[in-house]
Amino acid sequence: MAAPTGGGLHGLLSVLQSCEDTKSTISALNVLDELLSAGTDRRFFYLISQGGSEAVLQALVKAARTSAPDRGLLLPLLHLLAKVGSRDRRIGEKAAAVGAELLTLTLLKKSMEHSRTATACLWVLRSFCSSASTAALLGENGCMDIVFKLIAPHTTKHTRTVKAAIDAFAGLFHSKANGRRAAAEGYVSGLLMLYEDWHRKDALENSHVPIRRALLHCLHLATGSRASSAALLGTGGLGLLLHTVQSCVSSEGASCLVELTVQLMRKCYPQTPVPIISERSAYSFPLPGGRTPGSEAVPGHTDEILEEDSEDDTENCSSHDNYKLLRRALVLILAGDPSNGQINKDGAGGSDWRGKLDLETDLDRLRMRPEPHRARDQLGQYIRLCPELHHDFQDLDSGLEKEESSDEEASLIGERIPEGGKREAPSHPKGKGGPDGLAFPWKKETPPVWGGGLPGEDPPKAVGFLSCRLRSEPEKVAGLLQRHRASVPGQNLRQHLSAFTSLSTPAFSDLWGHLPPRREEPMAERTPSVQRKKVFEDIQRILCPEDIINKAVFDLEDVSSCSPNGSDCLQFDSRFESGNLRKVIQVRRHEYDLILNADANSSDHHQWFYFEVSGMQSHVSYRFNVINCEKANSQFNYGMQPVLYSVREALEGRPGWVRAGTEICYYRNHFFRRGGRKGSACYTLTFSVTFQHEEDVCYLAYHYPYTYSTLQAHLQILRQSVDRRKVFFWEQSLCSSLGGNSCPLVTITACPASHSWTHLHQLRNRPYVVLTARVHPGESNASWVMRGSLEFLCSDDPAAQALREAYIFKVIPMLNPDGVISGSHRCSLSGMDLNRQWGKPDATLSPTIYHTKGLLYYLASVGRSPLVFCDYHGHSRKKNFFLYGCSAKETLQKSGCGVPVTGLQEDVGYQTIPQALDGVAPAFSLGSCSFVVERSREATARVVVWREMGVLRSYTMESTYNGCNQGLYKGLQVGTQELEEMGAHFCQSLLSLKKRSLAPSGIHIQHTPVLLDPGDSLQDHKIHNTFEDDEPPCAERIEYCGVSGYPDHTDDSLDSEVDANVSSSEEEEEDEEEEKIRGSKQRANSEGITHLEVSHGGVLSRGPFL
Ligand SMILES: [Zn+2]
Repeated sequence: MAAPTGGGLHGLLSVLQSCEDTKSTISALNVLDELLSAGTDRRFFYLISQGGSEAVLQALVKAARTSAPDRGLLLPLLHLLAKVGSRDRRIGEKAAAVGAELLTLTLLKKSMEHSRTATACLWVLRSFCSSASTAALLGENGCMDIVFKLIAPHTTKHTRTVKAAIDAFAGLFHSKANGRRAAAEGYVSGLLMLYEDWHRKDALENSHVPIRRALLHCLHLATGSRASSAALLGTGGLGLLLHTVQSCVSSEGASCLVELTVQLMRKCYPQTPVPIISERSAYSFPLPGGRTPGSEAVPGHTDEILEEDSEDDTENCSSHDNYKLLRRALVLILAGDPSNGQINKDGAGGSDWRGKLDLETDLDRLRMRPEPHRARDQLGQYIRLCPELHHDFQDLDSGLEKEESSDEEASLIGERIPEGGKREAPSHPKGKGGPDGLAFPWKKETPPVWGGGLPGEDPPKAVGFLSCRLRSEPEKVAGLLQRHRASVPGQNLRQHLSAFTSLSTPAFSDLWGHLPPRREEPMAERTPSVQRKKVFEDIQRILCPEDIINKAVFDLEDVSSCSPNGSDCLQFDSRFESGNLRKVIQVRRHEYDLILNADANSSDHHQWFYFEVSGMQSHVSYRFNVINCEKANSQFNYGMQPVLYSVREALEGRPGWVRAGTEICYYRNHFFRRGGRKGSACYTLTFSVTFQHEEDVCYLAYHYPYTYSTLQAHLQILRQSVDRRKVFFWEQSLCSSLGGNSCPLVTITACPASHSWTHLHQLRNRPYVVLTARVHPGESNASWVMRGSLEFLCSDDPAAQALREAYIFKVIPMLNPDGVISGSHRCSLSGMDLNRQWGKPDATLSPTIYHTKGLLYYLASVGRSPLVFCDYHGHSRKKNFFLYGCSAKETLQKSGCGVPVTGLQEDVGYQTIPQALDGVAPAFSLGSCSFVVERSREATARVVVWREMGVLRSYTMESTYNGCNQGLYKGLQVGTQELEEMGAHFCQSLLSLKKRSLAPSGIHIQHTPVLLDPGDSLQDHKIHNTFEDDEPPCAERIEYCGVSGYPDHTDDSLDSEVDANVSSSEEEEEDEEEEKIRGSKQRANSEGITHLEVSHGGVLSRGPFL
């Protein structure tokens, strides 16, 4: 049949609208219906566009207003209207315009005994309800009551009517007023009872699953308000639903009901605030000048787009003599008045985004080089940070006699360990370097067993404090042993016990050190339906409150109140460097709710955790729920595990963090936060751990910790071990952080072959490479990558030597020491995201950014802007490693602003490093890189250094917390070895620039608009939307706001239902007739006829065999 032509269609429509002859109207309806049924939905949409809805509505009004409506006309009219209405989004308004909605309602009232007509009316009403105001009007006119009467308890009759009534009832909830009406007038409990009835009587046969599903869907919509959720709870709905869903889980036919029920239960679970006094961090820090701790003034940015550069800070420090510097921040914080922290929405130091909305689309803005915010005469102070430019290298002649460091440096680094055995040249990070003789003096007595290692093979280096402190401070180690009450090998150490003050010292795990495990760590397999299982357990909490212990066993703000020694529960602590755990509540015997502390001077950024747990039994599965996470999704849903450190394992010679935890999932929970800026939703990260040893002390963390102390220890090792005849290694303090901690700056280059003018001249003219990391304290992976870079640059690898001879490296490995010490995730002590402060950093509030930028200004002022700048970060939502860079051309392209970019000249030198990394680094993913300059990133290091300093190769390097989904490490989680390896590879990739020719530094597109060979470019690489999730949707929904798993209104099933409703001229059905049909259906089945359809009226409808 041909598609309707415009003329023919209009003819048919005018018959509908104006013809008084019933027969002609019915004929027109039949023709229309056949035309529509024969084609695709496009025919419907064409009909709608030509006024089809209005014509059918008018025909309906005309027919319904007659004194004795002709059902033979009404039914096909209603049927056509149901089909058209389900596809016309504006059908509700159109119906209201001609008064069809109330007429249909009246028709329904009159047709209660005529199930076919009633059913058709219900479909039509449902479509009208797509308009909220029409739904409201219907509600006001008693529609709910009429429709609800048609939702019968379990029956085998008129099931099509029942289903249509449920769907129409659901439609009424488009009006919020109807939602309130449902709660007030008891419809919610009525629906619940109906659902229970249908479930109970249909649970075995599952022959009416669509009805049960429709009831659940209806309940979902009916419980949109707090009052209606309460109504459901008040009638025991949660228990009932849990009971029903458990039988659906085991029944294949009803499995489609499970997800809907689980979502409904989660939705109705009573919301409760996170059980802490205040969302504000337990740490506050009085800001200089009485300023209020702030927020960056970046409006409207959710964490979805903040990944590159924001996390927050809390604080946590030490009181041990050896850690004066660490302690300083804590003392200041603890001295602060916790109440003094109102959030200033306009926060100091923020960037003004208004008026800059054109950055992504305006080439001039992209190319504009903002004026420096620093007067030239302020830059002289930075000469001291470039000793390589004025050092005379006279000590070269005397070999190793160069003094270890300047006085200034010594005062900044703090106490020195007097002795430091000459270390072998640092090995390649991936290499199986020899033992350093550093960490484990008892190793001789008890040779450690190295899992997977070859016999006789030496363990790799441990990373931690002990590598430089252990030998000089055995009493400290012994103190630790006592503190941890561990019955461990090597107990001879315990004879040196001394009191070890506990507050905010480095954790044992950091002190003792870390050796990466030798085995691969595959991503965790997600147990099917693990989330469902956890949600069921959560629901049991309110169903069986008597089983819930609900006892605080740790509270950072009131430690004395929680001393569960000897009781049957785990003990927790987080009062150590980088620790983060605010409160722990024992829920069940082996289950704990953990609450994270917000960043200092903030109420947000709950993500990083690091805590100690002890008092465990072995071989018992403990469930941990971190209940106040903020992000809407997490790599914990995609194979990532937290990390665990066992003190007993460490003392037995296997010190190290390992991935641990089973039954891991991440989902929205029923808690809400009262004061956060990022909305009130909370998410649960849940995981279970079975500890290997009885009475162990273990640490659990979000990711491999890397503390400020660890960094200091590492720098000390490097300082003591580099070959000073070859490596110029100079450590200084860039400045003090807001909390008074030194921010180290390391200069690495090759020593000149002699101190002849030629050699010194060559050295001083080497291009600069500036590397920074850990502006976001929760991104400890960035520190491990930086560690790899430092190790490599100091190593005797020939490539490292070549790099040192080619470049001067300026490395600032920890831009936010206060945040790291305090266990923050995103911010500094000022409560600001420091990677939002690069535009105009405040010298007092963001000193490390202010002075890093000052150093860059200084380099630029002497014509030495770096060849490469890279800021190392961690990315919590993506896998692999990748770079963000800056390209004006790619930005304009991506923005779709219409600016022609084909002829635009741009130096594509920014692509060299990513391309080189693609070749050398197995964990690197070129496809994940992006070179778009986003407006929201205008004040980040990468963009500011590119725009203001004219550094062509300005990058953010992102490291996954999880693992890789491509390349050599596909399917594996990253360990510290892979992170360090990436740091080494990044340095290696810099040699690709050297090969190309060492262009003068500071090329800026504005000045050298040279388009290199386009064939050499990355233009064909996939430009991703940088911040969209890489991951497929979770098998189980993380959120539960939407109603999932319910077929849409325009589903084809409605059409077939409608067609089945029209197959007989019989209006009413008789029981006996139905029985007759049943019998014939059974016969048909027994004869192998399977395509029979039976209308609910009991009359055989058109099937292929009839
Ligand atoms: Zn970051």
